[in-house]
Amino acid sequence: MIVVSSCLAGLEVRYNGTHSLDETIRQLVNENKAVTICPELLGGFTTPREPAEIIGGDGYDVLDGNAKVVEKSGRDVTELYIKGAHAALEKARKLQASTVVLKENSPSCGSTMIYNGEFKGKKIVGNGVTSALLKRNGIQVLNEEQFVETMK
Ligand code: SF4
Repeated sequence: MIVVSSCLAGLEVRYNGTHSLDETIRQLVNENKAVTICPELLGGFTTPREPAEIIGGDGYDVLDGNAKVVEKSGRDVTELYIKGAHAALEKARKLQASTVVLKENSPSCGSTMIYNGEFKGKKIVGNGVTSALLKRNGIQVLNEEQFVETMK
């Protein structure tokens, strides 16, 4: 089974109530070949919610207690991000996911790039919290572009 970010399948679960539709991914979900997850909703957030970024490192650093996830207005939401990551890992394991496709740039789902914690739209190389936890547990994570490449 393939597990995909809910927003890539067109579900309006992003912080601002929008989606990040990828038609290839939506089709897989419609054909029951992929299952959606949203780590932030699994962590207890609702939509809409404040944007959040990782400050002081990336998802691996958050898992190790060396960085935190903070909302734009300053609330520390690190624990909720870690909770969502563990829930996503559990779901991926239950589904025996062969591949997990997560939305790039997100503080949860980014798997090569994330925002740098300044809320200025600047990106740095790094993983979101969920991607880091999945990778640390031996699960392959691809972003939407990498995945679509594998389908060609
Ligand atoms: Fe999409 Fe992941 Fe953000 Fe949920 S947490 S809206 S699945 S990028």
